[in-house]
Amino acid sequence: MVDLIGQYSHIKPQINKAFESILDTAYYIGGPEVKGFQADLEKYLDIKHVIPCANGTDALQIAMMGLGLKQGDEVITVDFTFAATVEVIALLKLTPVLIDVEEDTYNMDIDALKKAITPKTKAIVPVHLFGQCANMEAILEVAKEHNLFVIEDNAQAIGADYTFSDGTKKKSGTMGTVGTTSFFPSKNLGCYGDGGAIFTNDDKLAHTIRGIVNHGMYERYYHDVVGVNSRLDSLQAAVLQIKLPLLDSYCDARLKAANYYNDAFAGNKHIITPITSKFTTHVFHQYTMQIIDTDRDALHKHLLENNIPNAIYYPVPLHNQKAYQDERYNEEDFKVTNKLVKTVLSLPIHTELEEDQLAYITKTVLDFVNR
Ligand SMILES: *Cc1c(COP(=O)(O)O)cnc(C)c1O
Repeated sequence: MVDLIGQYSHIKPQINKAFESILDTAYYIGGPEVKGFQADLEKYLDIKHVIPCANGTDALQIAMMGLGLKQGDEVITVDFTFAATVEVIALLKLTPVLIDVEEDTYNMDIDALKKAITPKTKAIVPVHLFGQCANMEAILEVAKEHNLFVIEDNAQAIGADYTFSDGTKKKSGTMGTVGTTSFFPSKNLGCYGDGGAIFTNDDKLAHTIRGIVNHGMYERYYHDVVGVNSRLDSLQAAVLQIKLPLLDSYCDARLKAANYYNDAFAGNKHIITPITSKFTTHVFHQYTMQIIDTDRDALHKHLLENNIPNAIYYPVPLHNQKAYQDERYNEEDFKVTNKLVKTVLSLPIHTELEEDQLAYITKTVLDFVNR
């Protein structure tokens, strides 16, 4: 699905030099690369505070801890996403409230959001799924009206731009109370191991979070709150410092591949190509189409047999996962997710796709669905 070796080959000298200098000084933890990358990302996102941490799941958990959410508080998120989002809500003994998504963008459904709010609701976690922003203007309006925190799970959309109706532009992950991301190798901005970050414009929240990531310490060996140990190491920060200036070109390369797929599949009655909302750019973390009126699972297998990696993101709605089942849920409220899990299929999308590969992939897909 990705070509990390090909991508590395273009930046090998810089990466190897940076690694060598870290290995020569043994400054593995908290080296200058970490502060350097933090400052670079603050500038790129135009945000006051970036707090690096160990991974994107930690970032979500730490954001929720920083906001002081308590047992029994309801946190609304989407049924159609990677499990990390709901996992940390449950882990902190908060109450996850899963809601449906929109059929065309795969992102949070605003009517479902409004319906899910109760006096116990404390936070909304929109996930900018597959690389485009959820309808943040509407989400922020609902949050304001009900005095709720907004935690943007931006693990899949770093680099995307959102345009508000008054023309103001913001980077994905910087619009809510706090944003989180993952630097897992296959993400649009990936390191060579695990990494993550939390972003906010709120000085007080940033201070709280900086303590939480470091065992709840604000002064060495004084533990004011219960914290965690979650940091980005120097080697990962060095990779990210080298790759951040390339992020926009990486997103452009993904968009180019997505446009190739869109053009090739346009008008086919078995394929619904992904739609980009008018208020957001799409950085195509995944190219996820819907396969209708033909056997999606057979296509999935056929492509694998023809050496074309492809995946089903995601095969099971979260509300039907054993860990997250709950009597409160009603299947009627998850019509879209229940349908998407049966129709979605994601094709390879990354920075190294060549035209002959795209031609082979699209031809193989089309030959199968038109057979
Ligand atoms: C990848 C991902 C995460 C988790 O990130 P890790 O770094 O793997 O912990 C969280 N949410 C979403 C939507 C993701 O895609």
